[in-house]
Order: sequence, then structure tokens, then C-alpha cells
Amino acid sequence: MTADVRQLLVDSCRILAHAGQEHFAFGHVSAREAPGVDRFWFKGGGLGLGEMTVDDLVLIDFDGNRLGGTAPIHNEYPIHAEIFRARPEVTCVVHTHPFYSAAFAGSDWELKQVGQDAVNFWRGVGRYDTSVLVTDAEKGRALAAALGDLDVAVLANHGIAAAGRTVIDATYFAIEFDRAVQMQALAQQLGPLRITPQDELDQLIPYLSTAAKTRAQGVWEWLLRQTDKADGRG
Ligand SMILES: [Zn+2]
Repeated sequence: MTADVRQLLVDSCRILAHAGQEHFAFGHVSAREAPGVDRFWFKGGGLGLGEMTVDDLVLIDFDGNRLGGTAPIHNEYPIHAEIFRARPEVTCVVHTHPFYSAAFAGSDWELKQVGQDAVNFWRGVGRYDTSVLVTDAEKGRALAAALGDLDVAVLANHGIAAAGRTVIDATYFAIEFDRAVQMQALAQQLGPLRITPQDELDQLIPYLSTAAKTRAQGVWEWLLRQTDKADGRG
């Protein structure tokens, strides 16, 4: 089981890099070692998301103590630890600085329902309203509170945190959120927004969100095939 989680975590990092979410060697992804346990595999520091292998992961507890692996530990591990602590059902957290989402985080915009990707966020988006880095448990708790039971929180002037019941869901949310923001930014340039009416949205949610049980899985498999091809592994 552990080997599977580590490979899923590496694949998540590679997929996020291929989707354009790398910001040099910043950004990280974590996955609980097993559901319900208080320790998690974490992308090691110093390398980019696209460079990850299972040997570059570290295993840490919620206080940042190293339990396995030799790579440096990103100093924003409390983003992951405190979301895991607050959300027992969450097994994966993605923290990235996607270019459009980070621009969104530097504005007072709200996400609007203007395209299919936004449908995933029909319940709303959290906003952690400080640009100060999340380097201790107190700040991590504040971020977890801003996220609440939602899937994505924006970190002001910084990036995003996405939480999922699975590695696949958290990765999917991070990618879909950046697409939704990018779509809204372009639609706004083209003219007045055509916001999806609530009655139409209600009909789309079962098909275009994780309410559709196979959607995130299908997107993940497509993304992994594209990533493997791009990396010469396909
Ligand atoms: Zn960051």
C-alpha cells in the first residue's frame, strides 16, 4: 500500500508540472501514508514537481518530524499537516502557485460560473487572507479554517491549496481550479460574463464535478498518459 501511495504522489507531482503548475522548485504535494494515520509522504524540497521520483519523497508527522527519506523538508509543511489534522477524510493536499490562480489570489475577484471547470467549485472557494508564508501550526490552522470543508482555498498573493479524499481528487481540483480562473479571465476580456444560471448549474453538477464518480479518475488517466508521453515514458 505504501509503495502505491508514493507512486501516486509522484504521478500527481509530474501531472501538475505537465499542467503548468510548476513555479521553479516551489509547490508541493502530500499524501497520508494510509487513510487515518497522522503522518504523510511529502514532496522533498530542492527539486521541481516534474523532477520527483519516489526516492525524493520524505515521510513526516504533523509536527514536521522526519520519519523517512533524506530530501529537505519544505518549510510550509504546516499547510498539509493542519489540513490533515482538521479533515480526517482528506488523504492528499496540493499546494501550488499556478500562474493564473496566483494572479487571481492577487486580486479581489470571486470565482464565477462561466465554464465547465468552474462547476467543480459550485460550493465555493476558501480564501486565506494573508500573504505571509504558512510556516507554523497556528498559520496552518488558520488556513485549514479558511478552507473549511471546501476543496480549494486561495492563499492571498501566493497560490492555492487543494484537498481531496484521494490523490486523484486533490490533483484534479488544483488543475480544474486553474483552468476555471483562466477561463474567467479570458471571458471577462471578451465581454460581459454569461454566468451559468443556477437551474442549469444544478443539472451540470452530477456530470461535471466529482459528484460524477468516474470524472476525476478519467481526467487523471488522460493527464497521466499525456505526462508519460511528454516524459518519454509512454
Ligand atoms: Zn507556496
